[in-house]
Amino acid sequence: MKRELNIAVSPVEAGEPDKLKSVVSQALKVDRERIYEMIIVRHSIDARNSRIRINLSLEIYIDERPDPQKRPNFEYPFVGNKKPVVIVGAGPAGLFAALHLIELGFKPILLERGKQVSERKKDIAAIHGEHLINPDSNYGYGEGGAGTFSDGKLYTRSKKRGDVRKILEVLNFHGAQDEILIEAHPHIGTNVLPKVIGSIRETIERSGGEYHFNSRVTDLILDWDRIKGVVLQNGDRVEGIAVVLATGHSARDIYYLLQRKEIELEAKTFALGVRAEHPQELIDKIQYHGTARGKYLPPAAYTMVEQVGDRGVYSFCMCPGGVIVPAATAPGELVVNGMSPSHRGGKFANSGIVTEIRVEDIPAEFKRFGIFAGLEFQQQVEKNCFLAAGESQLAPAQRLADFAANRRSPSLPDTSYRPGIVPSDMGSWLPGFVTSRLREGLNKMGRKSHGYLTNEAILLGAETRTSSPLRIPRSNETLEQLQIKGLFPCGEGAGYAGGIVSSAVDGERVAEMIGQMFK
Ligand SMILES: Cc1cc2nc3c(=O)[nH]c(=O)nc-3n(C[C@H](O)[C@H](O)[C@H](O)COP(=O)(O)OP(=O)(O)OC[C@H]3O[C@@H](n4cnc5c(N)ncnc54)[C@H](O)[C@@H]3O)c2cc1C
Repeated sequence: MKRELNIAVSPVEAGEPDKLKSVVSQALKVDRERIYEMIIVRHSIDARNSRIRINLSLEIYIDERPDPQKRPNFEYPFVGNKKPVVIVGAGPAGLFAALHLIELGFKPILLERGKQVSERKKDIAAIHGEHLINPDSNYGYGEGGAGTFSDGKLYTRSKKRGDVRKILEVLNFHGAQDEILIEAHPHIGTNVLPKVIGSIRETIERSGGEYHFNSRVTDLILDWDRIKGVVLQNGDRVEGIAVVLATGHSARDIYYLLQRKEIELEAKTFALGVRAEHPQELIDKIQYHGTARGKYLPPAAYTMVEQVGDRGVYSFCMCPGGVIVPAATAPGELVVNGMSPSHRGGKFANSGIVTEIRVEDIPAEFKRFGIFAGLEFQQQVEKNCFLAAGESQLAPAQRLADFAANRRSPSLPDTSYRPGIVPSDMGSWLPGFVTSRLREGLNKMGRKSHGYLTNEAILLGAETRTSSPLRIPRSNETLEQLQIKGLFPCGEGAGYAGGIVSSAVDGERVAEMIGQMFK
């Protein structure tokens, strides 16, 4: 007999199968010996107060064993001789569009400006060691897109649970851990992600899809209001019945290309700020109410949201046990972001601390750029940060409590950021209104979360690539309603997603639309 049970237990009970069995046997009033198996189908931590509980949804098998576990399985037919669809960008949006197009019987032709994961690693090492940014291969560009070297957090606020579940199952099918199917806040880790991304490439190629690296798209082939294909940097033309534009939010050249082609863009709210880094032990103490984490609790994460005036200041993309990385996509800019390995076992916890930038917040001197005002402002902050770092990938840094109190930091603590850091008064290069909002926001966070506002923590700049300052409007209904018939802006760069899972969901959605419009 199979029973289902939702139960809150202590971390030790959740971590020791024998102890969990005792708790379950009492809850169900069934002898321990009759419980053959317990399968966790959902796992979350409730650390809102000092009595930390683990919420479990369990399937309990009494007097019988479950059928052998069936892993998610997907069929990808051969599509080498089917109608071709060009996909620009091999990030989560492009990859999931490709996989779903294969399921629907179309042949994806993926064009990626960067390199394969293994080659990409060399360019990333050059950023750390020699401070060299290859504008086609870096933390943002290359196989798997911006999400390959990341924490691989798969949490999304998307309401469409079915869509999210499928993304997790496809990732699991391609080698991601089983835990991502049960955790409330799943993550893959930067050590596992490249393997998953490589396995997705194998699926696409085995099914007859094409995957081209070092293939930067520089132009669109338009026939009046219809797209025929794209042109690469070497002049090659690649044609298809439709084009999915999944180039991410860092591809500024693509936004300018669209403007030249008179394709409508909209300015939208985005966010920027700095990245905070604390000792992980300190975050564990704060989040677990002074209790030592022990072996049954994971390195703690946090989420903070404050209101400063009528603008939000919030934590973004928090990486427990992670490292801060240099995530610029072009020379002359400095951008930081964070990533963690699957065990999140590092000494530090980092998170973006950013404030929302609405169109009306952008300083007047950028208004002359029209729709690109936000984009130019974002880039100027990255350039200012680069100059503050002495024109290198060293990151300007200041102790957190010093920044909050508007004091200089005479010395800096240890950091995970490998290129190195330089002392900086962050307010000297951040825009004034951003500095004052972050300062007030951090002070408020410190009052709510005792111990957070400390000089054991530092801030590094600049965290600017949280979301796109532009949207490429897309009708989701009919071919006739599309701005350019057959052109499907997709994922984070199009302004329809923010994060790995929502970008992947948007990739699937676009594939579905192509399936309906080009049956
Ligand atoms: C260091 C880091 C850590 C992150 N951590 C997380 C996390 O833990 N969880 C999470 O949800 N999100 C995270 N993100 C954000 C996440 O990676 C993005 O939201 C997501 O990758 C967006 O997917 P996308 O496919 O829309 O675009 P992208 O992933 O940006 O992919 C776009 C692709 O298009 C290619 N491209 C661009 N221009 C061209 C061109 N002209 N021709 C051909 N190809 C082109 C690029 O090379 C790139 O590979 C992180 C990002 C970074 C940088």
